[in-house]
Amino acid sequence: AENALIQSEKLAAVGRLASSISHEINNPLEAITNLLYLIALTDDLSPSARAYVQTAQSELSRVCQIATQTLRFHRQAVRATNVTAAELVNAVLNLYQGRLANSSIKVEACYATTTRILCFENDIRQVLNNLIANAIDAMRQGGRLIVRAHDATDESRGKSRHGIRITIADTGHGMSPEVRARLFEPFYTTKDLNGTGLGLWISAGIVRRHQGRLSFRSTQHPIHHGTIFSLFLPWAEEPSPPVSQ
Ligand code: ADP
Repeated sequence: AENALIQSEKLAAVGRLASSISHEINNPLEAITNLLYLIALTDDLSPSARAYVQTAQSELSRVCQIATQTLRFHRQAVRATNVTAAELVNAVLNLYQGRLANSSIKVEACYATTTRILCFENDIRQVLNNLIANAIDAMRQGGRLIVRAHDATDESRGKSRHGIRITIADTGHGMSPEVRARLFEPFYTTKDLNGTGLGLWISAGIVRRHQGRLSFRSTQHPIHHGTIFSLFLPWAEEPSPPVSQ
């Protein structure tokens, strides 16, 4: 009986590992799929290049199939959980610890709420991860990354809703009016080959499923330049589960 118990714990651990890996790779896979599709659409490919792209596409579709299958298994098992802002943000900041320690970016984190929010934790972490990665990218010359969380009331959509607000502010280069108008569009990036332009688009979808709100302010004022993103998550509403792709 003891062996069976150990065995089932091992299986559960493997399952958790597989599901977290497939969750992490699903978005980059999606990006690669879309990019290959766009390459295949171009007219000026040489016949051999076209054949390479086709082979890449069919190999990739096998990988995607494996990833979605594992993910589907994961998503059946996954339930929305109750977490605090500190738990969510710290999990993400930990990933950047090394990079931040070697940079001239100073991090300030201040959590003024212990409210638990019902959410799909991996998804909200992904949103925070995208926002923090963007803030770091905007501060190549160093600066301050300020993360705060507090209980809040959101007044948009003609109603008053209680929840938490997490703000992520940077003292980076800020955004031009064009970027401010387009940043939620899929594939819109100013980072050339280093960006996919999918981060904020994906984030907006996740926030929408959580009945939340993602807003921002940004300025390129010569002295007070920078950007602040604000994520509101309501506590009284059921998030809808992630959709399988
Ligand atoms: P990516 O990071 O791959 O470019 P995103 O969708 O995450 O894709 O962001 C789209 C664009 O929005 C970025 O390329 C950048 O120009 C702009 N942006 C997002 N966050 C910030 C920020 N904190 N400071 C300055 N610009 C930003």
